[in-house]
Amino acid sequence: MAQTQQDVLEASKAQCIFCKIIGGEIPSFKIYEDNKVYAFLDINPINAGHALVIPKEHYIVLPQLPEALATHLMKVVKYLSGAIFEMTGAHGINVFQNNGAAAGQEVPHVHFHIIPRFQDDKAIGEWKRNKIEPEKLKQMADAMGKTLKPISSRVKLGSTTPKVTKKKAASKKPSKVIKLTKRKKT
Ligand code: AMP
Ligand code: ZN
Repeated sequence: MAQTQQDVLEASKAQCIFCKIIGGEIPSFKIYEDNKVYAFLDINPINAGHALVIPKEHYIVLPQLPEALATHLMKVVKYLSGAIFEMTGAHGINVFQNNGAAAGQEVPHVHFHIIPRFQDDKAIGEWKRNKIEPEKLKQMADAMGKTLKPISSRVKLGSTTPKVTKKKAASKKPSKVIKLTKRKKT
């Protein structure tokens, strides 16, 4: 029998560590909570103050979120980015969000990373950038632009949900080797 989107969600929810954190089965270092959203410190921070912001309801990837929840989640991300910026004395902030194993998603529950950054901390490696002909960019923009519609006139949402691949059971090793970076004295 073909698995529906709902079956996939239910199966992944049953073993989701972030749902267990929300349910209190796994401890966490909470920094913010409201009726829809929970935020806590990452257990392997890229820099001190690295926080994760999650919806309380289980969804795997961003395009699956109902619009109202996505809007509220983004408001909380904005609020916490500003607060963390100030509280950590960071020089910058990265906000990022991985969708699917191919994009580096390890925990299949939608989450935003908020990462304080400090001048020259080299905490995140540089992205590989490619050169591309302007003509090729134009072709792509034309093709993509034909499909995309202004949000207010869209009827059906969520049609671009990426394929979700099942992850292997988490290893005991921490996923990343992370060094906390102290702020340089000025
Ligand atoms: P991602 O690679 O975007 O899926 O990121 C998942 C993040 O969750 C990683 O940065 C982990 O360090 C973090 N993480 C995993 N388990 C926990 C936990 N129990 N408490 C806090 N953060 C966690
Ligand atoms: Zn979950």
